[in-house]
Amino acid sequence: MRLSLFSRLTLGYLTIFVLVTAVSAYAIHQLRRFDTLTRSILSIDNRLLDLQKVLADKLDTQSRFEQNFVLTKKEAEFEQFLRLKEDFEAQLNQANALADAAAQNLLSQIQRDYQSYQELVAEEVQLIRAKKVYTQTEYKQAKDQFIDTIQASLNEIKANQQQATYAKLNQLAQTVDQALQVSIMITSACLLAIVLLSLLITRSITRPVALLKSKTREIAEGRFDAGLRISSPPELAELAAAFNRMCERLGEIERMKADFFSSMSHELRTPLTSIKEGTGLLLDGVGGQTTDKQRKLLTILAEESNRLIGVVNSLLDLSKLEAGMLNYAFETVNLDPLIRRAVAEIAPLVEAKQITVETAIDAPLPPARLDPERMLQVLRNLLGNAVKFTPKGGQVTVAASPVDGKLQVSVQDSGPGIPAESLAAIFEKFHQGNHKGAHTRPGTGLGLAIAKNIITSHGGEIWAESELGQGSKFFFVLPCSA
Ligand code: ADP
Repeated sequence: MRLSLFSRLTLGYLTIFVLVTAVSAYAIHQLRRFDTLTRSILSIDNRLLDLQKVLADKLDTQSRFEQNFVLTKKEAEFEQFLRLKEDFEAQLNQANALADAAAQNLLSQIQRDYQSYQELVAEEVQLIRAKKVYTQTEYKQAKDQFIDTIQASLNEIKANQQQATYAKLNQLAQTVDQALQVSIMITSACLLAIVLLSLLITRSITRPVALLKSKTREIAEGRFDAGLRISSPPELAELAAAFNRMCERLGEIERMKADFFSSMSHELRTPLTSIKEGTGLLLDGVGGQTTDKQRKLLTILAEESNRLIGVVNSLLDLSKLEAGMLNYAFETVNLDPLIRRAVAEIAPLVEAKQITVETAIDAPLPPARLDPERMLQVLRNLLGNAVKFTPKGGQVTVAASPVDGKLQVSVQDSGPGIPAESLAAIFEKFHQGNHKGAHTRPGTGLGLAIAKNIITSHGGEIWAESELGQGSKFFFVLPCSA
């Protein structure tokens, strides 16, 4: 499903919202159950127990007043009895309203017994007031029996109620346990779902972003193949399509640039070679006798055309290297003869500048897979720079040795050194430092860029170490052939 970024995020958040709402709804539902049970315990069971106690106390007191009246015949005692009777009946009604079916049965029974007790008392009161003779003990027994039965019923209500409360508390504890377990399960499941969902959504976004990132890095490194495949989310798929179009366009421009450089270099090389040859012939006296002044001018012409041919060749090399059009002829060879050849080639310049060149080769060096011509080019560039930047009477040392299973070559000079901030930049094409007066021959800023390209194509690394005023040391390492 190709959902847009917006839909993915919205859907994700909605799902999380629904899950959280469901968990909350369940928790609220459970809380309401606890609330109902607790309320019923507090407002019904406890209240009924209170009423039961009040009724029992009132019955006791009432019976005491009634007995006092029988003994003392004081009307005040009987009035108290009557007042309590009203109270008792009112409380009985209240209890009836709160009671469940079983308690209501008992309360009806109490009501009937209480009625009978009242009737008995009324009968006895009439006898007392009429001053008739009657057997008091008979009445007392009958009244006590009713009082005992009522008290027994009240106790039964109390016992039942306590049992009901206990059962409710049990149910409450069970519900809490159950709710706790279910809540833990639901919450864990929801958390897991949320984490998985977030991971899925994040991954579906970060994966194409990572692809875009690595593509951007490739473009920055000058690789423009348009092969980015992202089908969703649509926004990033569109971005990938735009990236591919950009790569195609950049590739075209790069090809055009390489074509331009190589055709321009070719165009320049032919006339320059003619100039060089012509000047050489004139210097050799082919055009007749030349004056000293003419010879001087012709020598300058020869040197400058040589330098220009060098620049054009470097440009041609670099454009071929960058376009990947330079075919390497790899061979498994020893590097020592190549180093010695490069040192020998530079000998005339070294002599002219009265520089000492030392070679420190840990012979025999392990063989390496390399293109000898290209490696010679690297050595020429490094040695050329070292000699170029080393003042008269200075020293250049070329060293080679196996280091950490690799072949390491270094070219050290006693020149002016390179500022730390330029150490990386000097390997970029057209980068030239400011060395006024340090060398006689101006450079192109291409030599190190070409060297880096060649060494990288050999699977190696190249870098420089230097301090201003302390000379420079250029290193490169190459993998040894197994
Ligand atoms: P160039 O033709 O200018 O020498 P390179 O690419 O060979 O081009 O070198 C780039 C820059 O690096 C030089 O212009 C110089 O500033 C610096 N450089 C290279 N080699 C040395 C060295 N041995 N000593 C000091 N500076 C150097």
